[in-house]
Amino acid sequence: MGGGKRVVVVGAGFAGLAAADALRARGAEVTVLEARDRVGGRVWSVPFGDGAVVERGAEFILPDYEVMQSLATRFGIPLVLKGTPYGRRTAIGEEAVSDSDLEAAFERIRRGPPAGAASVGEAIAALELAPRQAALLRTRVAISNGHPVDDLDASVVEESASTFGDFANWTLAGGNMRLADALADELGDILHLSSPVRRIRWSDAGISIGTDDAELDADAAVIAIPTAPLGEIEFDPPLEGATASALRAVTYGQNSKLFIRLLTPAPPSAVMSIAGHFWTYTQLGADGEPAPFLVSYAGTRAAIEALGGSEQPERWVAATLSLRTDLDLDADPAAALLSNWDEDPWVRGSYSARSLASPIRDDDLQRPIGPLFFAGEHTAGAWHGLMEGALRSGGRAAEQLLDSRP
Ligand SMILES: Cc1cc2nc3c(=O)[nH]c(=O)nc-3n(C[C@H](O)[C@H](O)[C@H](O)COP(=O)(O)OP(=O)(O)OC[C@H]3O[C@@H](n4cnc5c(N)ncnc54)[C@H](O)[C@@H]3O)c2cc1C
Repeated sequence: MGGGKRVVVVGAGFAGLAAADALRARGAEVTVLEARDRVGGRVWSVPFGDGAVVERGAEFILPDYEVMQSLATRFGIPLVLKGTPYGRRTAIGEEAVSDSDLEAAFERIRRGPPAGAASVGEAIAALELAPRQAALLRTRVAISNGHPVDDLDASVVEESASTFGDFANWTLAGGNMRLADALADELGDILHLSSPVRRIRWSDAGISIGTDDAELDADAAVIAIPTAPLGEIEFDPPLEGATASALRAVTYGQNSKLFIRLLTPAPPSAVMSIAGHFWTYTQLGADGEPAPFLVSYAGTRAAIEALGGSEQPERWVAATLSLRTDLDLDADPAAALLSNWDEDPWVRGSYSARSLASPIRDDDLQRPIGPLFFAGEHTAGAWHGLMEGALRSGGRAAEQLLDSRP
């Protein structure tokens, strides 16, 4: 089934592009509407310094990203082994934790959250670790989720546990955005950039979607956009029920990235600032040689603000320089690149966070409302917050739509 169904996909991030790909493979007639003047959404690779490419958004491809790796194979895009000890970020100086203490803390956390702990904060406290070990775990989980540990559901301990330890990680050669571009190339002129969706009229008989300069009729839609811009679309009738309230409840973490040129490239490393709530890393480039830049990654809104936010990036540059005295970094703040997502109108955050106060309701988020089907990392259940989740959610929404009644 599915042949001949007219479907509009809203959003050309990984979720929307994967949905469009799956819908077309089964014969649907697809149009994709994207607000930005590029595809990829939170996957955004840009040139930096002398011939390097950096990821302003999603960067790490982890070992279990089966969908992403098979798409890379399909389009002939090689994976670059980064060599970054992603799962083994160390702290240094007064914050240092020995390797054996770090391993012991990982081991405790791998056993899952202690009974009765509601939040990650409570779970880590209940492990009764030494203060430095506990501080390292709290900060690491807060940075990765972009959200304070006292409002992260204790189950996040288990999600995080799989990212502690030693494992390989990659990016796509030339940037992760190449995958979005490859999927978009196949769509050709059914993809419309700079076309933010403003209105959706819907009933069981079909939908009508309005942009600033066009109105499109279709049988159904896959809505693959974050919940902040979703809330700005005028729905007629308004969205109600469990799915609508689950969408409104999604909380986004806040993460920013800072790229600083390395005057002398350095081998892969990963060092955290616990007090500053950021971690810094170096990596290999596509040629297998050390890449000529360092990335600093901060999380929680409070941490980003304390580091100077968008107004005073020189503060974060200075904090990074004083943490990584082992590296030969370009100290000129004007040469650094800051990537903030909270001010981006098409997302207003980094990725969905398992807030305790406002939980991600995985099942409700995957339920359609009439002819409207929902995709996006926030609907990806255990894969939420990740590129792989976005891709999987697009495939899932496409299948749901095509298997639904005409
Ligand atoms: C700083 C940062 C670091 C990250 N690091 C990693 C990582 O290392 N590994 C990993 O796997 N993941 C990472 N992620 C997460 C990853 O980027 C996301 O999970 C994934 O890219 C989300 O894809 P999506 O399609 O769900 O949403 P998006 O990429 O946000 O795509 C949605 C698209 O919809 C468009 N849109 C919005 N509103 C409208 C509208 N009204 N009309 C039309 N179009 C609209 C947007 O412009 C956007 O292109 C990171 C994210 C950030 C921000």
